[in-house]
Amino acid sequence: MSAATLEQLLAAFAPVGRDPAGGWTRRGFSAHEERLRSMLEAEATRRGWSSSIDAATNLWLWLEGPGEDALVLGSHLDSVVCGGALDGPLGLASALAAIDLLRARRWRPRRPVALVAFRDEEGGRFGRACLGSRVLTGALNPSDALALEDDEGVSLAAALDSLGYDRRTFGPDRNLVASIGSYLELHIEQGRQLAPHGRAVGLGTGIWPHARLRAILPGRPNHAGTTPMHERDDPVVTLAHLVLEVRRAALARGALATVGRVEVEPNAPNAIARAVEAWVDVRAPHEDALDGLIVDVERLVTPTEGTLTVASRTPATAFDAALSSSIAAVVDAPRIATGAGHDAGILQDAGVPSAMIFVRNPTGVSHAPDEDATREDRRRGVEALARAIEVLT
Ligand SMILES: [Zn+2]
Repeated sequence: MSAATLEQLLAAFAPVGRDPAGGWTRRGFSAHEERLRSMLEAEATRRGWSSSIDAATNLWLWLEGPGEDALVLGSHLDSVVCGGALDGPLGLASALAAIDLLRARRWRPRRPVALVAFRDEEGGRFGRACLGSRVLTGALNPSDALALEDDEGVSLAAALDSLGYDRRTFGPDRNLVASIGSYLELHIEQGRQLAPHGRAVGLGTGIWPHARLRAILPGRPNHAGTTPMHERDDPVVTLAHLVLEVRRAALARGALATVGRVEVEPNAPNAIARAVEAWVDVRAPHEDALDGLIVDVERLVTPTEGTLTVASRTPATAFDAALSSSIAAVVDAPRIATGAGHDAGILQDAGVPSAMIFVRNPTGVSHAPDEDATREDRRRGVEALARAIEVLT
């Protein structure tokens, strides 16, 4: 029954946001995200649940109405550009399926239970990850959020207007956050830690600390066809050195580092660049390793080559130990940490006891169409979530 719910819902979601370039593009605050939200809402209302939209435009589905000390099951419906189908939707479809499974077993919860679809978790449109949960909890100021602009110069405020939401009421809801007794998020595994264990599900321990550094490398623009090699001041050469050394530093510290965004000016095939801007994303298993890696990376750019500054730093998040132990008592699963951010991390940081269950991804690929979970593992994910919900309610 539950496996059918899950597979039917994923199949219904599948056509939404298919990208001709491959995979799915369902950006936050887009018509695709709205479509998935209304499909999920229709499933919930068909079951007699109530729905509401919070001040940060996240969608809430309550089994028997809101209340204090709620168990909230959540994830997101948006994706990155050309992402996979499961990152986000698997969590919400599994939550619905787990509740169907429990209801069939005559489960009677002793506390309120809700599903929440957090808005724009990936930050794919406005560049701020976990936007819905950050605004809801007060971690992101609503006026700062409303002023964010997408690539076309459309502000979040204007996007809210065009979707029919009221920008004047956009903001946090601390009472709603305070009513969440526990938050549990099931998610497709990002990376490949479970396959070597031979296990279908894992229990999240926390989220690695991470930082973003911004390098500005000025050069001396000149003609590619007339400037002798020894007379060049070419910032792309400095960038090449930086990219290789960043990789070496991360490997030496058992950490992760990525130069994923580079802007070359004027970006012409026959010109030595005037300047390069590069972003270095660094993540490590613990704070000391990350601090060490940041110092390593900062040393890679000398003052004559340019500047390298820490644009943002996010501390590690440890999920709630008591909540995780309660789940571990009924779900036998290895503990895994993740380098990726999640709404569960935002809620935990806001003081809500939070936990995560991961479902094995045999490819280890994330944010790309090759992300996968077998049908059998998806079923086991639902089963694990159902056991967790049962013990927590
Ligand atoms: Zn996700």
